[in-house]
Amino acid sequence: MALQVELIPTGEIIRVVHPHRPCKLALGSDGVRVTMESALTARDRVGVQDFVLLENFTSEAAFIENLRRRFRENLIYTYIGPVLVSVNPYRDLQIYSRQHMERYRGVSFYEVPPHLFAVADTVYRALRTERRDQAVMISGESGAGKTEATKRLLQFYAETCPAPERGGAVRDRLLQSNPVLEAFGNAKTLRNDNSSRFGKYMDVQFDFKGAPVGGHILSYLLEKSRVVHQNHGERNFHVFYQLLEGGEEEMLRRLGLERNPQSYLYLVKGQCAKVSSINDKSDWKVVRKALTVIDFTEDEVEDLLSIVASVLHLGNIHFAADEESNAQVTTENQLKYLTLLGVEGSTLREALTHRKIIAKGEELLSPLNLEQAAYARDALAKAVYSRTFTWLVRKINRSLASKDAESPSWRSTTVLGLLDIYGFEVFQHNSFEQFCINYCNEKLQQLFIELTLKSEQEEYEAEGIAWEPVQYFNNKIICDLVEEKFKGIISILDEECLRPGEATDLTFLEKLEDTVKHHPHFLTHKLADQRTRKSLGRGEFRLLHYAGEVTYSVTGFLDKNNDLLFRNLKETMCSSENPIMSQCFDRSELSDKKRPETVATQFKMSLLQLVEILQSKEPAYVRCIKPNDAKQPGRFDEVLIRHQVKYLGLMENLRVRRAGFAYRRKYEAFLQRYKSLCPETWPTWAGRPQDGVAVLVRHLGYKPEEYKMGRTKIFIRFPKTLFATEDALEV
Ligand code: ATP
Ligand code: MG
Repeated sequence: MALQVELIPTGEIIRVVHPHRPCKLALGSDGVRVTMESALTARDRVGVQDFVLLENFTSEAAFIENLRRRFRENLIYTYIGPVLVSVNPYRDLQIYSRQHMERYRGVSFYEVPPHLFAVADTVYRALRTERRDQAVMISGESGAGKTEATKRLLQFYAETCPAPERGGAVRDRLLQSNPVLEAFGNAKTLRNDNSSRFGKYMDVQFDFKGAPVGGHILSYLLEKSRVVHQNHGERNFHVFYQLLEGGEEEMLRRLGLERNPQSYLYLVKGQCAKVSSINDKSDWKVVRKALTVIDFTEDEVEDLLSIVASVLHLGNIHFAADEESNAQVTTENQLKYLTLLGVEGSTLREALTHRKIIAKGEELLSPLNLEQAAYARDALAKAVYSRTFTWLVRKINRSLASKDAESPSWRSTTVLGLLDIYGFEVFQHNSFEQFCINYCNEKLQQLFIELTLKSEQEEYEAEGIAWEPVQYFNNKIICDLVEEKFKGIISILDEECLRPGEATDLTFLEKLEDTVKHHPHFLTHKLADQRTRKSLGRGEFRLLHYAGEVTYSVTGFLDKNNDLLFRNLKETMCSSENPIMSQCFDRSELSDKKRPETVATQFKMSLLQLVEILQSKEPAYVRCIKPNDAKQPGRFDEVLIRHQVKYLGLMENLRVRRAGFAYRRKYEAFLQRYKSLCPETWPTWAGRPQDGVAVLVRHLGYKPEEYKMGRTKIFIRFPKTLFATEDALEV
């Protein structure tokens, strides 16, 4: 009798089914050696590929053990239902080739091992078939692999989607926007050699045939303080080093630049201009080419680089005090290069050493002391750089905008969003930036819980299965604490920013203590009991976030929130002849009586807009985990990982997913996989798959409380039921 062989790729296991005696072969991790292995031992070795199949699903230890087993086998992806958990391997696993892309196209989530491309394809198919906008939200701490994942997703779509009828260049532009944004927005930090210092949300638009036809980027809160200061072991934004290393002699001469980064004060603070993992020279080539692809003219490139160079020159401006303690510029030579900013050196000299005050309708020039002048210089450098970054995003958006807006296909576009945004941050010292970032994570967590619960509930309803309410922690209370009108922390901070000269970081803290004193998620030294008081400084407040406690130092909160640029510096920049600068500094800023929005309020509004965008889309999630702080392959630091499992809310996620049924599968797929276990369904079942499954599970002795039959799927309550069925295939 001929052996009937059916190959069903199921995760790491390839099944060879014999009509009477099914046996199982497992692929070795090298992908070549084939060994006999039972399902049971395979599970022991590589863990389960979906955390919902963990017997002890409330145990964090079991969760981490499963991650560890898989990580050891280079299996970096694991699901929690539809959520993908990814552990950064810090090595090239060769799992993103075109061949891999093809393997994941058009197959169901569960027929193949967990992979980013499975998410990519599932999302794309939903976009095509249901014509609903999608959003992939990628989160995790610095160095966890968010940006890499975003790039792989874009690559997947660029390579596998059909080309648009017109404007095929958009695919290149989508891909090439990345190196440019990374040059200006990424930097080497202690945590990540290519750390994104801004949040990014990118929409890719598809026409009715599923071809990418356009895109749009939103950016969030660039860490501009890095322009003027870097901690030890960190660098400024990549572009500075790239330009110095890679720029042609002729260009550098024009920009008045020396090759050596040590010559620039803004580049030496971190004392690590060279990084072994980074090749600034070749990166520069990539960026230079990318600028052309995204429609930069030669003139625009020149204007842009003039700005980059002038930031470096600005950093080298020194001051000395005259007899009256007023600051004077001592580096006259440096000033001449600042014409690159499109302003007169002498005008800038005056603007850097004086402050314009309007008193009784009269303009007065008041000289600055040394400290104030240095502050003004750094504020200008930060403003110039961050506004250029915003301009860059706008420019990229113009290049990505669908050129085919009038065609019929445009009207039926669908959108796929990719969110690559900073994860929860808890450092030794936490300041305004961490406060904003953690607030952002609080908002996204709220959305996540809301959408996960909603989709669970919707699936139960669609399948005609009674919904059992799930208990979960709703973090709205923390979001309110931060963002509520009048009583929220941001409101109080803004209020203090309105009292220049009187308010200080400490009066802000006092006001906070008065207003939110009885809040269960807020604590200060004064409000704490004896025991906790020891761990809280006098200039600190503590928030109990969903992911844990974070203590913030209020030092610098007012200044960073105000983000003021002296008026005469603004005036000077508004008169700039550099076309980019003149778009970045608008005269309306000068005449406008209305105060500009504070940084926190702007951030809050952009987050509300982001939440709205995400809410209107079908969500998918990628949760990234960093396995160690050494940026090394093969090291699984359990303490570090446990923290992240907590910050990412993974246990809560799993609990919600497991609240009802651990496992659900379409009748067709279930029958196909297990039909050999029942003589009535093997080798073929002629009737409806649902009836076949009913016959099958009755034969297997499933108890009524162990499963439910939905409209299109079977729902199984406990993993052990499923595993017993799996193991039966062994016999
Ligand atoms: P940040 O918040 O600092 O921007 P991130 O989460 O975006 O961090 P990435 O820049 O994506 O982190 O990843 C950090 C580094 O880890 C990458 O430069 C790369 O070397 C490595 N890495 C990340 N993901 C993968 C992967 N899937 N395979 C191989 N290496 C990876
Ligand atoms: Mg990143």
